[in-house]
Amino acid sequence: MLRSFFIYLSKAAWARRTIMGWGPAVRLSKRFVAGEKLTDAIQAVRALNEKGINATLDHLGEYTYSPEEARAATRDILEILDWIHQEKVRSGVSIKLSQIGLELSEDLAAENLLAILGKARTTGNFVRLDMEDSTTVDQTLALYRKMRMEHGFENVGVVIQSYLYRSEADVKALMEICAPIRLCKGAYKEPAEVAFPQKADVDSNFDKLTALLLDTALSRGCNAVSADGRFPPLPAIATHDEKRIQFARDYAARIGLEKNRFEFQMLNGIRRDLQDRLVKEGYPVRVYVPYGTQWYPYFMRRLAERPANVWFLVSNYFRN
Ligand SMILES: Cc1cc2nc3c(=O)[nH]c(=O)nc-3n(C[C@H](O)[C@H](O)[C@H](O)COP(=O)(O)OP(=O)(O)OC[C@H]3O[C@@H](n4cnc5c(N)ncnc54)[C@H](O)[C@@H]3O)c2cc1C
Repeated sequence: MLRSFFIYLSKAAWARRTIMGWGPAVRLSKRFVAGEKLTDAIQAVRALNEKGINATLDHLGEYTYSPEEARAATRDILEILDWIHQEKVRSGVSIKLSQIGLELSEDLAAENLLAILGKARTTGNFVRLDMEDSTTVDQTLALYRKMRMEHGFENVGVVIQSYLYRSEADVKALMEICAPIRLCKGAYKEPAEVAFPQKADVDSNFDKLTALLLDTALSRGCNAVSADGRFPPLPAIATHDEKRIQFARDYAARIGLEKNRFEFQMLNGIRRDLQDRLVKEGYPVRVYVPYGTQWYPYFMRRLAERPANVWFLVSNYFRN
């Protein structure tokens, strides 16, 4: 209920205006978002790198409404890639296809993505295509394949959401071409026709897909994390759920997959203790670092995931 309501709010313009101007929400958003400027984000990445953690930078923004906006978002991403290169930080980049024009036209998104992947190739970097709601999965995977198969880009990966029924088939097909996959549970509101409504099913599918990914990493001898920390291994297990993490660790140990042939990924500001612990135990960890002024939908999805975040805001409302 609460989750659905907050995901609804994440798309509501009236709520955006109210919440972005409300002090406690702005303060809480800072827990998740590294700052408004690229320099803030680079600083956050440096701090993570000093702790032995790699990063993936996300310039917040989704659903651009004109080709000019999509091209401007693309230019911003090119700038991030230049900065990572110049500042020599251990970070890749995550992008949303709706940010670079997918909603407007597939050709426009493809043109912008080509520019981004070209720049990433010349600056030695990796780009992850975040996965948005289920209506965009076919287009996202098709564009991914086009970039890999037609344009020869190896520096790009996708995201699979364990709440979707289709994901097992998608993972199996993507494993045929050794596609780097970030596995997450899924952050959008999806109907029961396409996604498991029960959390227990989403969790058990997560473990099933983890096993598939780890088996493939072993049998195909896929790459470890690159020495500069920018290129992830084939499986990236993106969760803060300790049971899912324990499953991945146990499964990898059982099949004899070395620790550096998969990585754990978490979101900035969430379970820092667990991030540090995994690094100490020798597992590669990558943190997703969002920055920018368009933090609203990202922030609302983080609230939707965790009632405690909402209660924190509500108690602030009554205190003020
Ligand atoms: C690196 C990364 C990239 C992602 N990319 C995508 C993507 O491209 N597409 C997509 O749909 N989703 C993405 N997600 C979000 C993901 O789908 C989940 O919504 C999110 O990770 C919460 O699920 P969980 O696996 O942590 O498990 P949960 O069962 O939701 O949470 C497990 C525990 O983690 C902690 N926790 C989880 N969320 C929060 C929070 N918001 N605030 C505080 N504590 C929290 C709590 O301790 C909770 O008990 C990404 C997540 C990560 C970590």
